[in-house]
Amino acid sequence: MNYRITLLILVFLSGLCFTACDTKDEPVEVGFLIHAFDKERWENDRDYLVEDVQELGGTVKVMNAENDADKQLAQAKELLANGVDVLVVVPVDQFAAAAIVEAAHAKNVKVISYDRLIKNCKLDYYVSTDNVEIGSLQASYLTTIQPEGKYALIGGAMSDNNSQLLYLGQRNVLQPLVERGDIEIVYNEFTNAWEENEGYEHCKKLLDAHPDVNAIIAGNDELAMGVIRAIKEAGMEDQILIAGMDADLRNLREIVAGHQTCTVYKPYEKLAATTADLAIKLARDENGEKTYQTVSNGEMLVPTVFHTGMIVNRENLQLTVISEGYQREEEVYN
Ligand code: BGC
Repeated sequence: MNYRITLLILVFLSGLCFTACDTKDEPVEVGFLIHAFDKERWENDRDYLVEDVQELGGTVKVMNAENDADKQLAQAKELLANGVDVLVVVPVDQFAAAAIVEAAHAKNVKVISYDRLIKNCKLDYYVSTDNVEIGSLQASYLTTIQPEGKYALIGGAMSDNNSQLLYLGQRNVLQPLVERGDIEIVYNEFTNAWEENEGYEHCKKLLDAHPDVNAIIAGNDELAMGVIRAIKEAGMEDQILIAGMDADLRNLREIVAGHQTCTVYKPYEKLAATTADLAIKLARDENGEKTYQTVSNGEMLVPTVFHTGMIVNRENLQLTVISEGYQREEEVYN
C-alpha cells in the first residue's frame, strides 16, 4: 500500500516537473524595438519578422522609437517589465542603446542587435549584412564604369555604426585609385539622419563647388533621392553616376529611367528569418544560431550572422529584387 502511494506521488511530481521544465510549447514573446519607420525598408523588415516569429509559435510586440534614443530605452524597460522573453533592437543610437542591453540582462533577457550594431556592451547576437562589403560593392561598381575623375561621398547618419562601415568599404576601393592619382575625392560628408533633404542640401553644396563631379556614392537610397533632385534642378541628369542602397521602389524607378546607376539589395527576408529563429531559440534557452563569424563592438567579439548584399542595376533588376519577390515588376516599370 505504502509502496503504491509513494509511486503515485512520484508519478504526480514528475508530471509537475515535466510541465514546469518543458518550456518548448510555451508562447514566446519577442520585443522588436525599431528606431523608426522612416524608410521604406523597415516596414518590410517588421512584416517579415512578425510573420516568421508567428510561424515558429511566438508573438512580436513592435515598438517605434521615432528616432528618439531615450524613448527607445523607456520602451525597452516597459517590455521588460511586462515579461518579454527576448529583445530584437534596431538602435536609434549605436552607443546609447548599450543601456537597453544592460537593462535586459538585469532581467536575464537576451538581446539581438538587428541590422545596426550596438556598441560597447555585452551584446548577445548581431544579425545584419556586411556593410563594409556593401560599401566596397558600391565603389567597385562605379569605379569600374568611371575609373578616373571626381568622386563625392554623402554618407549615412553619424549615430549609426553602419555609416562608418560603409565608408570603410568605399574607401578600401577608392584609396588605391586616389593614391594612383586617378580619382580625387572632392566631397566627403556624413548626415544626421539619413534624410532625403540632407542628400539634397549636400548635393547642392557639392555642385556649387564642383559642378564637374563624375560620381556620387550616397549612403542609402533616401539620400540618393535628394541627390537626384538636386542634380535634376541643376539640369545635369544622366551626367553623374550615383550609387545608393536599399532597393527602394522610387530608386528602382530612377534606375530604370537612367538617373541612378545602382543600388544595393539586402536580403531582408533572410535577415528576418535568421533573427526570428534565433530569437525563439534564445527565449527557450536553446543554443543560438550557428555563427559564421564575430564582430567587435568595442567591448567584445559579438557572435554574428551576416547575409550578403548585392548590386542592383538596370540589367539585373528582374533577376534580383523582382524575382526574389521584394518589389513588384508592374510597380517598378509603371
Ligand atoms: C540601414 C539602411 C537604412 C538606414 C536608414 C541603416 O542602418 O542599414 O538600410 O537605409 O539605416 O534607415
